[in-house]
Amino acid sequence: MNLYGAHLFHTGLERVYKYITKWQDKAPWKRYDHEVVGWLDGKLLPIPVNINTVNGLLEESIQTPKEMDKWLKSVQIPCKKKDQCANAEEMAKSRVGKDLFEKVFATYTKKQWDKKPKELDALVTARIPVRNNFDPRYFSDKYQVLPSKGYTKWFAEVLRHKNIDVVLGADYFKVRKSLQGRCGKTIFTGPIDRYFQDSKLGKLEYRSINFEAELLKNSGYFQTHSVVNYPGPEVDFTRIVEYKHYFHRKSDYTITVKEYSTDTGDPYYPVPNPKNHELYEKYQELAQKEEKENKVYFVGRLASYKYFNMDAAIDNALDMFNQIEGSPSQLDIDDEAESADADKKETSSALEKPTATAPKKKGTASTVSDSIN
Ligand SMILES: Cc1cc2nc3c(=O)[nH]c(=O)nc-3n(C[C@H](O)[C@H](O)[C@H](O)COP(=O)(O)OP(=O)(O)OC[C@H]3O[C@@H](n4cnc5c(N)ncnc54)[C@H](O)[C@@H]3O)c2cc1C
Repeated sequence: MNLYGAHLFHTGLERVYKYITKWQDKAPWKRYDHEVVGWLDGKLLPIPVNINTVNGLLEESIQTPKEMDKWLKSVQIPCKKKDQCANAEEMAKSRVGKDLFEKVFATYTKKQWDKKPKELDALVTARIPVRNNFDPRYFSDKYQVLPSKGYTKWFAEVLRHKNIDVVLGADYFKVRKSLQGRCGKTIFTGPIDRYFQDSKLGKLEYRSINFEAELLKNSGYFQTHSVVNYPGPEVDFTRIVEYKHYFHRKSDYTITVKEYSTDTGDPYYPVPNPKNHELYEKYQELAQKEEKENKVYFVGRLASYKYFNMDAAIDNALDMFNQIEGSPSQLDIDDEAESADADKKETSSALEKPTATAPKKKGTASTVSDSIN
């Protein structure tokens, strides 16, 4: 199991899939179609919302995508300002209507962010996934895989390279001085506000998770799916993950992990609101300067203060490498034709510019609303 929560790999980006499967002989990825259900009004119903969710929750009898589209249209409440929803509540209601918003999203959002949907950016619920069919899968990406020997084995293969030395347990800020003059370029992947803490600009807000694991003996499965979400107020946790479901492992034991959202702990999710955006923009300016003057490059979710799924993080890192090295594309990844193809296939909006320097890029932007998963 993973120390930091279930990590389901999914992508529509050909070059990212090609990259992760470069070590397929030693650390193979296997297809895994993730399905999630939510405990809603005493029933287990599919998440993301699909026809079965609406029928089960709201006693409808929708049978076709056409009927689902019609139903959705009938319940959607347009934002007060056309095409410009003021906050996450307005946005959610404009997408799924009042009933689904209240039963599926309102309390969950409060539990996740400790803020009411009205206090959060519209973008938090801008991409709430709603299916107009019966597809119960959590993701609709072309590639949905898990590393069959675990992530540690996969990372070990990635890092097995003559140019890579790994030093674990070292805080960058403690060794920074000793590195001076020895590093031509620095790639910084930690929190951007920590890097510039001397600037006294202030702290960026993050949400974290408390994972509460429990080992149960001599039981089959604890729950029907690997992930059961709890969007309602009856419990404090947001979901329970049962790892045994992944690849349907045989064991007399099972481990369940309850996830509680919290303000304290490791930084996981940037809190998307205007105050944080504004502050991050100030850090971005400092980052640009630092890059120019000292060749320090800010890469990844913490340095970009942005939630990335794994595929977006890898895509962004590949781009950064090409940009820093001044090469059009990595020699061993023939991505150009394929990523053009992926562009056409992607339906979600493009990955926003994640750092001061990273190029604007196609791809499946991993949205904060993904984290409702
Ligand atoms: C609970 C949870 C569940 C998730 N589930 C999924 C999922 O199902 N599917 C999916 O695609 N994505 C998922 N993600 C997102 C995924 O974890 C990220 O995409 C990925 O971790 C981003 O990689 P990164 O390199 O940008 O950042 P990180 O993985 O955070 O890497 C940053 C690195 O910098 C190091 N670092 C930071 N500060 C210092 C310092 N001072 N000194 C030395 N080292 C430092 C850290 O130790 C870390 O190794 C999930 C995230 C969370 C929090």
